[in-house]
Amino acid sequence: MSTTVIAEMTSPYVEHQEFPDLVYPTSVTATLAAFREAFPAAARLVPEEDGGAAALSVHSRDYVDFVKEGSRRPEGATKFPLNVVALPELKVSEPRTFEGRHTQYFFDEITRATPALCEGALISAAASQQGARRLAETAQTAEHALMLVPTRPPGHHALPSVGGGLCVFANAAIAARELSRSGRVVVLDIDQDHGNGTQGVFYDDPSVLTISIHAEGWPHVAGFAEETGGPGAPGTNLNLPLPTGTGFDGYAPALETALETIARFEARYLVLALGYDAQREQGFGLLRLDSEDFGVLGRRIAGLGLPTLVTTEGCYGYYESTAVAATHFFQGWAEQWR
Ligand SMILES: [Zn+2]
Repeated sequence: MSTTVIAEMTSPYVEHQEFPDLVYPTSVTATLAAFREAFPAAARLVPEEDGGAAALSVHSRDYVDFVKEGSRRPEGATKFPLNVVALPELKVSEPRTFEGRHTQYFFDEITRATPALCEGALISAAASQQGARRLAETAQTAEHALMLVPTRPPGHHALPSVGGGLCVFANAAIAARELSRSGRVVVLDIDQDHGNGTQGVFYDDPSVLTISIHAEGWPHVAGFAEETGGPGAPGTNLNLPLPTGTGFDGYAPALETALETIARFEARYLVLALGYDAQREQGFGLLRLDSEDFGVLGRRIAGLGLPTLVTTEGCYGYYESTAVAATHFFQGWAEQWR
């Protein structure tokens, strides 16, 4: 047992698709470039379409069917409804159109079920599950194992029957659910925003520890320190919200708290929800990490020594800062495992 196995599970669709609006594909392109530079010998795997099967491991059937329908609608066929979110008190009748169902499946106005977004969500979910399967197999014999699954749209805001925050399917949660078949799992979310979807999926599941380091704020109704797990899983959710403007001096202690908590949980696997919006030029400056700080993040997280699957979450489209942060992150990881 002295081998290191590195691989990526990349959908060509996700790698090359121009996603709409704010779903910046630079998170994928920058991550792939940095990963391939840091690990030139990594295996390149391609996921198979699965008709929504992976998404069903976390999401409700009616929601998955809605997304599948969205993927088949012609470009421009949907008139996206503005200003309506079908809160329970508002809803009197079942919606009768795709646009109507849209109001009950997304919690904000910025997330729009375009054909590209739905298609990307389906293949990203499949890649997350298939990447997790491959990682679990690899980890049986390898000393170190790393699987990158570039995902677009991102996933960490998506709940079982509700998407939002540009997220449709909860990719990190889908990977974690698959890995939890063969051991305890930690999901660590270092996107600037709270991983409310991942938390929601596993809140009452004692086999998966969910940790999120984020700026106080979005999505405003979750992400607080007192959310520590449901009655069936006390102590298995850790939120580390940081005040607006926090730099790495304030971030580093939260990271160490997360790493100590992971070590105590005695996890078999790690899923890392990797965003770059904590970088100071991104995400409205809510957090102020320098790109070089991502190198420390890579080194410290790799230092856990756990078989790890990485999904891609937020960035704000500024290719240069995303690319530099990603390069530092994976170089740091590679140095740690050298
Ligand atoms: Zn974010």
